[in-house]
This record gives sequence, structure tokens and C-alpha cells, in this order.
Amino acid sequence: MIDSYGRQISYLRLSVTELCNLRCRYCMPEDGICKKRHNEMLTQEETISAIRAAASLGISKLRITGGEPLVKPNIVDLCAEAAAVDGIREVCMTTNATLLPKLAGPLREAGVSRLNISLDTLDPEKFRYITRIGTLSDAVAGLDAALDCGFERIKVNAVLIGGFNDDEIPVLAELTRRYPLDVRFIELMPMVDSGDFGPEAYLPCTAVTERLPGLEAMDPDGGVARLYRLPGAMGNIGLISPVSAHFCTACNRIRITADGKVKPCLHSSDEISIKGLDEEGMRETLRQAILAKPRWHGELSYCERSRAGRNMNQIGG
Ligand code: SAM
Ligand code: SF4
Repeated sequence: MIDSYGRQISYLRLSVTELCNLRCRYCMPEDGICKKRHNEMLTQEETISAIRAAASLGISKLRITGGEPLVKPNIVDLCAEAAAVDGIREVCMTTNATLLPKLAGPLREAGVSRLNISLDTLDPEKFRYITRIGTLSDAVAGLDAALDCGFERIKVNAVLIGGFNDDEIPVLAELTRRYPLDVRFIELMPMVDSGDFGPEAYLPCTAVTERLPGLEAMDPDGGVARLYRLPGAMGNIGLISPVSAHFCTACNRIRITADGKVKPCLHSSDEISIKGLDEEGMRETLRQAILAKPRWHGELSYCERSRAGRNMNQIGG
């Protein structure tokens, strides 16, 4: 479906839980979140109806996200049902990878074709610091398991944080020479609970091109990342700049939260509920949400913080 500004909306980011087994400092409060009541969240049946309704409006790419999608019971069944929906051509997932050693194979068999794995550092102490409770070897074992399972594409996503991992830009980028995967650097977005970080943490993606002078520019692939490659590498380096150079004019996505709110824009508090609706009601609500998608998300900076009204774990990134 085409929105009010001529953008073709073909990509649904669906959050299946707000819960997570990590507590990343830029994403979630230290104490976790107040667990919502079961009856406030979309049921599996409602979730599949929402995917069907979205597909009937022209959504062909689905990303399952969270919170951590792999902590959700029945996640493999949900992915299999989603992959079988008419019109859905691609089911992708964003995960912190820690539960992939057990789940990578079943997810691939269920029809998940692409994985984005969030990994901000390759240093065990820094990993514990940024995730507050995580263990780097769990995430690395998950990445290894994913590489063994024949996914069509694996991307490692690192949030770029000045004074934390800017010194690791070269070592993270080097992963694209050692493994068949892409590495993407994403600017830190100023969400409600990413307030621990001072202005120096908000590095523009140009920090990557400055530290990797040998990067070769690549043609865009239709996504939001500017693409580069290290000489001889198997995968691309992608730069995603939601803060320094927004990509709203090319935005093709819509979001549904685990509690059934359609978000036309990541950084707006506007939400429309589909909880409790039948499939036709969901279709109409999604249609209205697409038409209500704003032209852009407004200024974003350390001072002009996101107006999303939720933390990332409650949206899905
Ligand atoms: N738990 C999964 C994971 O970490 O991959 C999926 C959900 S997480 C909310 C989705 C993505 O949002 C992750 O790549 C994470 O790094 C990113 N994210 C969370 N908070 C962010 C922030 N303040 N700025 C930029 N990216 C953020
Ligand atoms: Fe959990 Fe992902 Fe948020 Fe980290 S970024 S706290 S892994 S939802």
C-alpha cells in the first residue's frame, strides 16, 4: 500500500514480546520492566491475523523482534505460521543471539531466512557492562550456530557508542573478512531510557568511514544502510544514521508492538490498537495507520529526544 507521501509500505516489524534476557543500557531500565498482564498482549492467533491483514495490504517482508523474540515460548511455531501466510515472502528476525545455539536450526527449518544479530562489542567485560547481565560467549556461540545453519543472510548490528566501542570499529568490521556476514553500525538513538549516555556517546556514522579509510563504497541494496566493503571481504559494512541523516523519505515500514499497538512511526507516540479486533478490523486499522504515517520523525538529538513514548524493548527497534 502507498502512504500519504507516496512511499510504498511493504515491511512489517512485529514485536512478539517486551521481555528480554539482557538489559542493554540504551534499551531497557536496569530492573527490567513491569510485566504486562497476559490478556493485554496479542495472542498467537491475533498475531497471525495481524500478519495476514498486513499481507493483504501489500506487506511482503516481516521482521520478528522484541524484547528478545527467542525468550517467547512457541517462537518457532509462530515463525512457521508466519512464513506460511500468503504474500509474506521473507521472514527475518532480530535477536541478541544468546539462545540461538538451541534455536538457530529450528528457526531456519521454520522458514526464517535472515537473521540480524545485535553485538556491540567483542570484549567480554564490555559486553557484560553494556548488557548489564549478559555473557559474551553465549552470544558468540549463537552467532556460530547461525553461521552453521544456512541462513540466506546474517547481519551483525552494532550500536555505535562514543567512548565505549568506537575503538572496536576495526575489529568489528574485520568480521566481514572472516565470516560470510555483513556488519552494520547504527547510531545510538536517544530513547527514554538511553539517558545514561552523555552527548559524546552520540557518534555520527562518519566515525566509521574516518576509522576505516580503505572502505570501498557499494551500490545501495534498497535498504536504509549506506553500504561499503573492506577489500577482500565476504560481506558489506552498512551505516545506519537515524540521527545524523534520517531516512524518512525512504521509510517503507510499519510496526506492531507485542501489546497490539500499530506504530506508524518509530519516534512518534501515535499508536492505534488492534488488540481484540477481528482480521477485517485489523486490516482497516492498519490501513488507517499507514495513511497516518508522518512525513518524518522530527529532529532527533541528545537534546531533542525520541517522542516514541516507549523504550526500544517495547517497540522492537
Ligand atoms: N533483543 C533483540 C536484539 O537485541 O537484537 C531484538 C530487539 S532490540 C530492541 C532491536 C535492536 O534495537 C537491537 O539491534 C538494538 O541494538 C537496537 N536498539 C535498542 N535500543 C537502541 C537505541 N537506543 N539506539 C539504537 N539502537 C537501539
Ligand atoms: Fe534486550 Fe535487545 Fe534491548 Fe538488548 S537491545 S535489552 S537484547 S531487547
